[in-house]
Amino acid sequence: MSDDNKTIHDFDFTIICEYFSVMERQGPGSPEVTIRALSFIENLTSESRIADIGCGTGGQTMVLAQHTPAQITGIDLFPVFIDLFNSNACKLNVQERVKGIVGSMDNLPYAKEELDLIWCEGAIYNIGFEKGLQEWRRFLKTGGYIAVSEACWFTEERPEEIDLFWKNAYPGIDTIPNKMKQMQNAGYMPVAVFTLPENCWTEHFYTPQVRAQELFLEKHAGNKAAEDLVAEMRYEEAVYKKYKAYYGYVFYIGKKL
Ligand code: SAH
Repeated sequence: MSDDNKTIHDFDFTIICEYFSVMERQGPGSPEVTIRALSFIENLTSESRIADIGCGTGGQTMVLAQHTPAQITGIDLFPVFIDLFNSNACKLNVQERVKGIVGSMDNLPYAKEELDLIWCEGAIYNIGFEKGLQEWRRFLKTGGYIAVSEACWFTEERPEEIDLFWKNAYPGIDTIPNKMKQMQNAGYMPVAVFTLPENCWTEHFYTPQVRAQELFLEKHAGNKAAEDLVAEMRYEEAVYKKYKAYYGYVFYIGKKL
């Protein structure tokens, strides 16, 4: 990857992957939250098959691996993340049943009714919540579960600044009742819904980025795209601090009827 000056918008994803690959998580979440979401899912055995879609480097997948005996596949678009995922699985000695593969969430390599559980933390926005729920449903067995976390509005009304920020970042953001309705309409019974605590954003997401940003800027000194990326992440953090009463991540657990 050459370090020439491009803007963040046309810049190769390589630099974004590099930025996020030093982080344990690539989105807001925590081991406690993963375990809590998993607690709503019944009957997982060593025969069960789980797909973790948009798995990143596998922060949440390794938690799943340690709390279920199931066979788990992590899928992500970026090979850099999948390499780290597979080395994380080896470190935990779960590589026989936990494997990362490169693939896209809009073209999953599964047969009809092959999966017992679809997991997706902080990634379904890439295809859209409603579309993801609809399209992935066919891969689940009847009685199988889906567990996804997604950015949502906490209130019906909000200041214009934050409204515009999200309409630009992810127009699919919506309120919790509307998302539940979408889940129900897509053919799942909503089993549980809970909001992620603030430490999923602070302690587990933004705080680790502070030191990582310094190192990243040192390494890419003078690179406009790297500077833009860090500026964007710092802006996101400031926005979160200012407007966290209005939005956050919400976990939705549904059962295929
Ligand atoms: N689940 C991880 C990563 C969330 S970040 C965590 O919570 O830490 C979103 C992830 O979605 C990134 O790893 C990104 O590479 C992945 N992604 C983006 N578009 C994708 C696609 N079309 N198919 C699969 N993964 C995708």
